Amino acid sequence: MSDCIFCKIIGGEIPSQVVYDDEDVFAFRDINAQAPLHVLIIPKAHIATINDLETNNADIIGKLYLVAKKIAADEGYTNKGYRVVMNCGEAAGQTVFHIHLHLLAGRPLDWPPG
Ligand code: 5GP
Ligand code: ZN
Repeated sequence: MSDCIFCKIIGGEIPSQVVYDDEDVFAFRDINAQAPLHVLIIPKAHIATINDLETNNADIIGKLYLVAKKIAADEGYTNKGYRVVMNCGEAAGQTVFHIHLHLLAGRPLDWPPG
């Protein structure tokens, strides 16, 4: 989508600190990190919110989690622990309408979240 900032990041039109890149999935460091590790993991296909997921998107959602697991391992958090979260809609804090997993680690993470 031409007016989506995450599509522009995938295309390199907006620079980012790339952590992972394959044919389906892209991951980059959050510009406003909320923890020592804060990576956004996104599908290359534009999907606006969880509400827009279709049955044929099941594979890509699984892939996002596998990439989260790999990045957590690469950064040394497999056993220390980490959080993976996806916001849906404005009341949940979604501000960019191209689905993304937040991978957060490196500080104590309170529960429940705010
Ligand atoms: P949301 O609030 O939609 O769950 O998360 C959007 C995230 O995208 C926020 O944590 C925000 O800091 C991050 N973000 C917004 N614009 C940019 C950008 O241009 N570059 C990067 N790297 N992160 C961004
Ligand atoms: Zn997009």
